[in-house]
Amino acid sequence: MLSPREIIEGYHGRPLRVMEVCGTHTHEIFRLGIRSLLPQSIELISGPGCPVCVTPTGYIDEAMFLAQECGVTICTFGDLIRVPGSEGSLATARATGAAIRPVYSPLDAVDLAAAEPERQFVFLAVGFETTVPAVCLALRKASSLGLRNFAILGANKTMPQAYLALKGSADAFLYPGHVHAILGTELCERLVHEGISGVLAGFTANELLTALAIIVLRSQEGKPFFENCYPRVVRPEGNLAAQKLIDEWMEPCDAEWRGLGRIPSSGLRLRPPFADFDARLKFHVPPITGRPNPACRCGDVLQGKLRPDQCPLFGKVCTPLHPVGACMVSNEGSCSAFFQYAQR
Ligand code: SF4
Repeated sequence: MLSPREIIEGYHGRPLRVMEVCGTHTHEIFRLGIRSLLPQSIELISGPGCPVCVTPTGYIDEAMFLAQECGVTICTFGDLIRVPGSEGSLATARATGAAIRPVYSPLDAVDLAAAEPERQFVFLAVGFETTVPAVCLALRKASSLGLRNFAILGANKTMPQAYLALKGSADAFLYPGHVHAILGTELCERLVHEGISGVLAGFTANELLTALAIIVLRSQEGKPFFENCYPRVVRPEGNLAAQKLIDEWMEPCDAEWRGLGRIPSSGLRLRPPFADFDARLKFHVPPITGRPNPACRCGDVLQGKLRPDQCPLFGKVCTPLHPVGACMVSNEGSCSAFFQYAQR
């Protein structure tokens, strides 16, 4: 019986395009050297699975408005601080006196707000289904403490509609294991009926090689397929407690994705009873249309239309130290992954 590695290395059939939807998969595949095992007939392309990367420029501008015009303290995961907005980043705003506080969790932001009741705090809520439960827990804590100086700037996104928007961009998806630990597997099974193939993958070398080998084998059957190659974490029903928590606080809304545009029902916003926690309403944030750097090709990279090193700015003007676009900033970004690993 052939090992997953032998199945992959021995594949010389029709070209197979496999999209890693998850930024952590992109990095792990590079870090573990899996790309170097692939025959020419298998191409890996990176998708929109990095939450910082898909957050549009206008969202950074909104955060800048809150920090600079409203004087609130912005609490955020570190990556977002260096993402360029239309005019500078939160890092440049901080250099000119804006209050920007990196946090490791939304709950940290609630603790900061509780400790300084005279200041207003806004947490930048970006991320997929994986991150949303922690945001809801933070909101629940802020509510139970009766905090009136805590709010979120919402830009959470959900994957189901994005998969449909990406239909046709690859022969199979490497589905993000962490997202489906929350969602379960039913969606992936339904997507098979839409003609979309994919495999749920974990993050170890063995799990990734197994998932790729399954894609190689099942693709030869000539019909759409799905397999859960991460059963130790992803159960068919997902995490019911997390789903209930999300549903209690959030409702679906249309969302703007960098590169993919506006996708109906692909985002989450606070339900009306919790509008007091909505920073846009609380601080009257005006509609802001971001102006991304026109030379940056993040949009094409996120759709798998362009390899990062095919961007004219890659490695020259745009590096992790001086990022021009979001995909070079985040640890999960594909431009950052290519810069760290592909050049070795
Ligand atoms: S290399 Fe830089 S400029 Fe080019 S697409 Fe990536 S982030 Fe944008």
